[in-house]
Amino acid sequence: MDSMSRVVLNPHLRRRFYGILDELWRRKLSSVFAAFTPSPGKHAKFTKTFREDRIEELDDLISEAYIPYFRRWVEKTAEKAQVKIPKRVECNNRAEWVATRLAKQYGRHKHLVYASFAGHKKCWKVGRSDRGLKRISSQADAYFFYHSNRVAVFYPRRRKKRVLPALECALTHIYDPRHLPKWPPLTKYLQKCPACRDIGLVRSIVRRMFPA
Ligand SMILES: [Zn+2]
Repeated sequence: MDSMSRVVLNPHLRRRFYGILDELWRRKLSSVFAAFTPSPGKHAKFTKTFREDRIEELDDLISEAYIPYFRRWVEKTAEKAQVKIPKRVECNNRAEWVATRLAKQYGRHKHLVYASFAGHKKCWKVGRSDRGLKRISSQADAYFFYHSNRVAVFYPRRRKKRVLPALECALTHIYDPRHLPKWPPLTKYLQKCPACRDIGLVRSIVRRMFPA
């Protein structure tokens, strides 16, 4: 079996990580705990839903643990450009406005990854394009541009086409967008992303140890 990468969980993340593992054990052995408790009451059953919810929490923690690592990598790998969308721009013109603005300010590049935001932290969508800003301007009706007030674009510095899936994956871990139909970026890339690989391994180990 593959071994996990060695990302270091900070104390805060580690506490949450151990807490989730504790919950799994405690729920699995709830009848044992209940048997030796003065007034046991009803004990909650270990269900598949319970397990899968805990797995999802573990996924999020692993993703979060990788953020500092991915931030450094993205900085090295890509040039970041960003535009704020003024309120006066009509919602259905925003995608076009962003594409025009980016072309004017930063030139035209064929390969890019974009992220659209609403407010400071809320990311709607991370996506990639290998046909330049057309990928943005053609999505005028998509809510992730419609309701966006900021778009960041990342242009890879080297190995432009090949690095796109990695860049999209890293930015997806960093921004945690609400809209995820296209993630993972490339099925064959997944095994190369340390975060996705760790998530996959933890999932399979937890499912094997806690059948439901
Ligand atoms: Zn990944």
